[in-house]
Amino acid sequence: MKKYDVIVVGAGPAGSMASRTLAKKGLRVLLIERKRIPGMPKQCAEGINKKAFEFLDMQVKKNWISNEYDSILVGLIKGGKALFRTPRTKGYVLDRKVFDYDLAMEAKAEGSRLLLDTAVNKLSVGDDEVSVVTSKGQFSSTLLIAADGPQSHIARQLGLGRLNSYFAFQYELEGRPNLHSTLQVFLDSPSGLDGYCWIFPKKNSMNIGIGSTVLSGLKDRLDEFIKIMDLSSRKILELNTGLIPGRNKLKKAFYDRILVIGDAAGHTNPLTGGGIPVALYDGVLAGEIAVEAIKAGKVNSKFLHKYQRQWDRSPFGKAWEDGFRLKNDLTKQANTEILKSLFSKVGFETITGRKGAVKKLIEKGFTFRESRMLFRIVTGIFDKVIDYAM
Ligand SMILES: Cc1cc2nc3c(=O)[nH]c(=O)nc-3n(C[C@H](O)[C@H](O)[C@H](O)COP(=O)(O)OP(=O)(O)OC[C@H]3O[C@@H](n4cnc5c(N)ncnc54)[C@H](O)[C@@H]3O)c2cc1C
Repeated sequence: MKKYDVIVVGAGPAGSMASRTLAKKGLRVLLIERKRIPGMPKQCAEGINKKAFEFLDMQVKKNWISNEYDSILVGLIKGGKALFRTPRTKGYVLDRKVFDYDLAMEAKAEGSRLLLDTAVNKLSVGDDEVSVVTSKGQFSSTLLIAADGPQSHIARQLGLGRLNSYFAFQYELEGRPNLHSTLQVFLDSPSGLDGYCWIFPKKNSMNIGIGSTVLSGLKDRLDEFIKIMDLSSRKILELNTGLIPGRNKLKKAFYDRILVIGDAAGHTNPLTGGGIPVALYDGVLAGEIAVEAIKAGKVNSKFLHKYQRQWDRSPFGKAWEDGFRLKNDLTKQANTEILKSLFSKVGFETITGRKGAVKKLIEKGFTFRESRMLFRIVTGIFDKVIDYAM
């Protein structure tokens, strides 16, 4: 049984970034992924803000990008819509299959051992090491990073908590949507405010999906949404399902010899469901802290608590809290009617900045409560969440 410095479970963006960071620093890393090919099948709408890559100082490769967007439309399916077009609403629609695969290969190129088609089934944390039983044998290391996604087996096994996620159902449809440079986000689903819908434009196709707290009838509601959007005749290229955390996060994302990162920790932004940027960030942060812990010979939970403290103080931690508050506010039963009347008065508006939004308040004769809600949406999107949430 070979001993590694760090075992990383899961070669999604979080795990591959962590492995890359660790291997770059010369540590012996084993990256274990249960899929045969990282990124396949895709479980994502693939939108990511440009700022995320700038913040992480990452070079964006051309083959990662399927399309670019310059605006975000927010509204209700059958109500009004506001199109935000500002310097902060620019980003990419990725090709996640290429992106995830490339990141895993980069981790390998830096020296990580990549074990594909291998599921981690059991974990034990001892005094000297942590070991895992996988479908391809047993491995041990000084420290382990759990990047095993929203259903994290490891977080559950350690009793760190259970995530309360949204159920997501998505089609990739052939052909472009009507707005080819805009992410369309609807704050409701065909059955009300129990979910949200999206249309993200790719080069020659689109990801169209629904996220909801209610699993029952999810496909039917997506089919209904597609009908309303007049897209029923489009060919379905792919069907994607998955869980999107964001309704809670782990209270404790560390343990003796263990760090939990990305979706596994519930770090996905509650407002947008965006989890790629924070997964990349978590990978780097956890990688750096793991290097420090191993070098100092301090792999106990007392030292590893540092990861959570730094995360809470990071822009991603703050955007999580802001996104959580705003999402709860928007979906409160008491606010449903205000939201509806607000968007019916909005009609269809393009908002290019804060000033524009305030002008609209005056022009449209919003009530005090509607103005307050619009103000919260605008400041929430512009000032608090957008850069670190999508
Ligand atoms: C339908 C949908 C749409 C989304 N759209 C967006 C979007 O537009 N923008 C955005 O930013 N985010 C989006 N997200 C969220 C985003 O996909 C995730 O936040 C992101 O992938 C998190 O990365 P991760 O590395 O933490 O986890 P994951 O990408 O889930 O990677 C976890 C990896 O661990 C592996 N694994 C799990 N268990 C084991 C095990 N026992 N042994 C070995 N390997 C294991 C899995 O196979 C997987 O490869 C969406 C999610 C869904 C479901």
